[in-house]
Amino acid sequence: MHVDLRANGHLQTKTVAPGVIGAYHPFGHQVTFLPDEGWRAVTEGRLSSLPDWIVQDLAARHFLVSEAEEARLVKELDTGPSGLGELWLVVVQSCNMACQYCVVEGNVEDLERRKYSKPKDVFDSPLIVPDENGEPTLKGAGTQVDMMSPETALAACDLFERQLQTAGQATPRVTFYGGEPMLNTAAIRAAVPRLRQIRWPGMGRADGPSLLIITNGQIYDAEFTDFLKAHSVMVSVSLDGMKRHHDAVRVNHGGGGTFEKAARSLERYIAAGLSCGICTTIGRHNVDDLPEIADYFAERFGVAVEFQVPFDIGCGGNDYYVPMVEAFPKAMEAYERLRRRGLIEGLAFKRVAEMAAGGTRRTDCSAIGSQITVSPDGAMGPCHSLVGERIGFSGHVSDPAFDPFQTEAFREWAGRYPLNMPDCQGCSAIGICGGGCPYNAMIKKGSIWEKDPQQCSYMHAFVDWFIDDCWGRYQAATGMTVQPAAASATDGARQFEQA
Ligand code: SF4
Ligand code: SF4
Repeated sequence: MHVDLRANGHLQTKTVAPGVIGAYHPFGHQVTFLPDEGWRAVTEGRLSSLPDWIVQDLAARHFLVSEAEEARLVKELDTGPSGLGELWLVVVQSCNMACQYCVVEGNVEDLERRKYSKPKDVFDSPLIVPDENGEPTLKGAGTQVDMMSPETALAACDLFERQLQTAGQATPRVTFYGGEPMLNTAAIRAAVPRLRQIRWPGMGRADGPSLLIITNGQIYDAEFTDFLKAHSVMVSVSLDGMKRHHDAVRVNHGGGGTFEKAARSLERYIAAGLSCGICTTIGRHNVDDLPEIADYFAERFGVAVEFQVPFDIGCGGNDYYVPMVEAFPKAMEAYERLRRRGLIEGLAFKRVAEMAAGGTRRTDCSAIGSQITVSPDGAMGPCHSLVGERIGFSGHVSDPAFDPFQTEAFREWAGRYPLNMPDCQGCSAIGICGGGCPYNAMIKKGSIWEKDPQQCSYMHAFVDWFIDDCWGRYQAATGMTVQPAAASATDGARQFEQA
């Protein structure tokens, strides 16, 4: 009767207790626990040595599948394009700070960041090409408009409204980004009331898209805060930890610290009643202290936090780059500490929520077919981190005949997700990974079709964490003490599966 069944090819396993194996697969994010011997019987195909009820249960939950069944499950993971969900308006490209790791400033030629970055002769990115004198220079670097005009901002809103009519998500978001967006409040003041008028079929909130400004907090304007509040604009302030972490990297153009102003601005936004969050980029400067930073943020500000995975920079590298797998234990401890206080850390929360709901994380980034980034000069591209080089950018928002999703760049990016990537086939994390950041793949390996080097080890560590978390909850719920060494395979399996 078990003739077609074999162990699912997308399994990830780990020992959760002496002699006990936890196993996960991505089709509905199922986890099961079996004693070593029982699990060996599964993987070695000795199903007849297991009681029928165990085999039936493992088959019902797809730990055992036929080849055809597994192929069908993989196909079903692809839930298809999700529609337009994000507009990023890069309202200004320059910045009043000179953060050492900034992907926007770092990818723009000849900006102030150079003062603090590596010498040019150590560039090692495929985006760096020789100029006419043989000197390394940034591919595609040229004269660029720095500041978005209010007219361009309004045209971008019109474009967004047009695009939403045919393929809009229920709750799309518009993000004002830079550089430092507070250097161009004229464009924001023009766009926000217009965005609040936008309506489209299937919209999920009465006042249109959610609106967010990501700021470094160096400029605070009380009257502008009232404007943001009146239009329900959320504010995310970039803070990398306590003063010693933040000021090590997030410096002004004189090399001085910026923590005090950023923290004070955040407090003022909170006091003014705006919906606020903290954006924290993980790097060498803060990775060891993430749990303490989470405590500090919770006590001082009490708002949601979102960790940013460190990216590399095409032009000059990122000295603070840290492999995400190294950061993982501290990042998850920080997530747990915030969770215990009723606060969210967004990077982990998104995945945990997806797993709890049994859904698929088809893409990890809206730039995969769901996002338009508008550069200050009105061109459109998929990724805001590539606005510095204008890679993938074309057209102009004021051209009503131009559809960015019909361009080669947008089409290519829309297809770049793990279910469509040969290197990802058979991966246990394929239902929750989303493929990480195509930008990081391009910077580190030369193509968006390569795997994001931050992603694989991070995702497998995440699945291990999920198995452990399920094991902890399972034991707490059953009150069971596991003594697998004393149990036979089938007895152990019965204990674990029946509860
Ligand atoms: S590709 Fe990477 S950097 Fe670009 S929008 Fe996506 S996550 Fe951000
Ligand atoms: S990027 Fe890595 S972890 Fe993600 S699906 Fe592909 S192989 Fe798996």
